[in-house]
Amino acid sequence: PRKFFVGGNFKMNGLLADIDRIVDHLNASHLDPNTEVLISPPAIYLLHVRDRVKKGIEVAAQNCYSEKQGAFTGEISPLQIADSGIPWVIIGHSERRTLFGDIDSVVAEKVRAALEEGLNIILCVGETLAQREAGETLKIVEHQLDCVKREIGPWAEVCHRIVIAYEPVWAIGTGKVASAAQAQEVHADTRTWLASHVGKEAAEDTRIIYGGSVSAKNCVELATQPDLDGFLVGGASLKPEFVDIINSHL
Ligand code: 13P
Repeated sequence: PRKFFVGGNFKMNGLLADIDRIVDHLNASHLDPNTEVLISPPAIYLLHVRDRVKKGIEVAAQNCYSEKQGAFTGEISPLQIADSGIPWVIIGHSERRTLFGDIDSVVAEKVRAALEEGLNIILCVGETLAQREAGETLKIVEHQLDCVKREIGPWAEVCHRIVIAYEPVWAIGTGKVASAAQAQEVHADTRTWLASHVGKEAAEDTRIIYGGSVSAKNCVELATQPDLDGFLVGGASLKPEFVDIINSHL
């Protein structure tokens, strides 16, 4: 059975006092022990958050570069993330893809580099509104997965370290959450892709989580879908309702 997984992606939000308030609230809350919980603050606060979170809350970087070290001003390497005791990194978020030039090949290289350092990865995939309206959703998501697979080699050996986040671009930060049926369709197709391209066991074991306007209100119905194994939460992860989303699977 796959452990339910809820991540909070703070994006470029929060000053130190805000981050402390969010972390302290999580620390003081009862969190479903059957759910894996992770938060991803801005890079400058990673070490601070690492030291402040209670046991059972994991920490993730929001991005990394694909090289170990060197003349890459402003970037952070997977080696540095691992060396800082941060076990997770989010790769391929749509904001990285659309605003910062993280095209499929870049995403794939980052995944390879992060795997080499032993990091766990939340790999984000998802279609734009135009792609959905053109009926290309499954094709786009499969293509994004194919690109990573080609770069990393035997995915099955590392499948326990990769969580796939399906984040339809049109649902991110818009308040337009995917319906439970829309999410389930893509999650089921992703699992089928895993079964045929990675392996049956990997398909069974891999967590496929949903992101895009998840809230305390809509999370319970989404969580009932058979192939939906958790959430990647943006805006609501900054608010007290994040606890309700973490506990949505109780
Ligand atoms: P929102 O929950 O704010 O829509 O953001 C989703 C997201 O991008 C999580 O990575």
